[in-house]
Amino acid sequence: ELGRLDELRKLPARTADGVDIVLRANIGLVSDIEIARHNGARGVGLYRTEFPYMARGGFPDRDDQYRLYRKVVEGFPGEVVTIRTLDIGGDKALPYFAPPEEDNPFMGWRSVRVSLDNPDIFITQIEAILMAARHGDVRLLFPMISSVEEALACRQAVRQAAANLAGEEIEHVADIPLGVMIEVPAAIPIARHLAELVDFFALGTNDLVQYLLAADRGNPLVRKYYDPLHPAVLATIRQIHLIARDTGRALCLCGEMATDPLGLLALLGLGLREFSTPAPYIPRIKALLQRINLEQTARAVDEIVDLGESHEIRSRLQRLLPKD
Ligand code: PEP
Ligand code: MG
Repeated sequence: ELGRLDELRKLPARTADGVDIVLRANIGLVSDIEIARHNGARGVGLYRTEFPYMARGGFPDRDDQYRLYRKVVEGFPGEVVTIRTLDIGGDKALPYFAPPEEDNPFMGWRSVRVSLDNPDIFITQIEAILMAARHGDVRLLFPMISSVEEALACRQAVRQAAANLAGEEIEHVADIPLGVMIEVPAAIPIARHLAELVDFFALGTNDLVQYLLAADRGNPLVRKYYDPLHPAVLATIRQIHLIARDTGRALCLCGEMATDPLGLLALLGLGLREFSTPAPYIPRIKALLQRINLEQTARAVDEIVDLGESHEIRSRLQRLLPKD
């Protein structure tokens, strides 16, 4: 089994009926670069930049960030690297940047909200990313977007960062592809408007599931409520997939849902073709893809998603799952 997984690292990610699937890596630390390469990731679908911010005693300056991002970008020659701006708050705190006590941190001052309220930190980070973009194929991703106004403000921040760098005569890429995370449920009914402002979508099921089902992703007391196979979750994912398809925007799923074989099966059946996961899952996902007939899966999932009960969905997917 291990020998076989080793072989799969080098093979393309392809279904039994010959459809290519894009498998990228979620990374956080520089040490993840080698793990991603070793497991045959097609670039990075999600670089969580808060990790380097958390590992330090204070905010890294622009050159520190540039050097770090450049190292990540150069780790994936010829492949896409998706750099997400700071996503602190919720469960992720910076020791040197204490947010006010909040009763509901996941509903509170987190992620892009913190960035938009701290333009110096935000624009400095974007400048570093635009500088690093010269060294590869970089995409810029904004988390926790819940309105068109926020997406517009993010675009304005990119314009400001590029103007600052131009003023300093520092080399950079001004026309970097921009994307938003789809992880707050409100983003989905407005996704057609968001599509006019961005080049790609990144579907964050970790947060999307918690916000749709009102079940804290880290609270064991409500684990049974945190259910990625809940019919409301699947219907919501189908909706964003169709909007992405109609508007011609790439949609990459970067939540943990794709690491569960039943979750992956459902997502493939719904039409998703790009996934970003922790890299050690990639060979196992490839092994599963090789045994999946996509056409058949799509037909079956089409019926399954309209079932009302999650346990029924689960058992139908279980039956659909190819045996080893
Ligand atoms: C998500 O919310 O699904 C996601 C990928 O981002 P994070 O886990 O960093 O919140
Ligand atoms: Mg998230």
